[in-house]
Amino acid sequence: MDIYINKIHYPINNLGAGTRLGIWFQGCPIRCSGCVNRDTWEAGEEYRLDYEEFIRALLSFENLDSADGVTITGGEPFAQPRALLELAGFLRKRIKGDILVYSGYAYDELKKKYPDILKSIDVLISEPFIESAGDRLLWRGSDNQKIRLLSKKASAVYGRGIDRAEWKGRRMQFSIVGDSLYMIGIPGRGDMEKLYEVMKKRGIDFEHA
Ligand code: SF4
Repeated sequence: MDIYINKIHYPINNLGAGTRLGIWFQGCPIRCSGCVNRDTWEAGEEYRLDYEEFIRALLSFENLDSADGVTITGGEPFAQPRALLELAGFLRKRIKGDILVYSGYAYDELKKKYPDILKSIDVLISEPFIESAGDRLLWRGSDNQKIRLLSKKASAVYGRGIDRAEWKGRRMQFSIVGDSLYMIGIPGRGDMEKLYEVMKKRGIDFEHA
């Protein structure tokens, strides 16, 4: 089996509880207007990995055992349902922390099509990004998106009120891999434009997806 992966990164601290390992799936057929992850849309050959090779790469992360959890995002993880199910099953057995998955699909659709995947993860953040919706809610790009706690572990870690929790100081992380700069986190409405403007004023002009 193949899996299309954009990147793996540790630590991340703005896409779920605590300090986490992040896995970005490559490929998204949803194409929300205003998406800031456009570089994850096309599942090109350069992102294709043999699944076993990917698991070996994952196991090489020293912090897999000490991470508070794993966040799987993208791209659209459910666009690769077989790989996602395998990965969730692997992580369930391997890590102590929670497994949180982002999806741009509606929860009702996921429940109908992929009940086995939902049983294998702890937290789901679902629904498409809607640019015209508010942007106050924690760990979400638009306020129509929902956090669902799917396991006892999730309820213990996140608590029942988490779906209505708001950002208290939104944080972005940046990481440099090779000659690429990656942004990790969820910018507020207009933040990217402000960032490009500030960089341009300082003479830094960069290409962005
Ligand atoms: S589902 Fe996520 S990655 Fe896909 S287009 Fe929407 S915001 Fe972008």
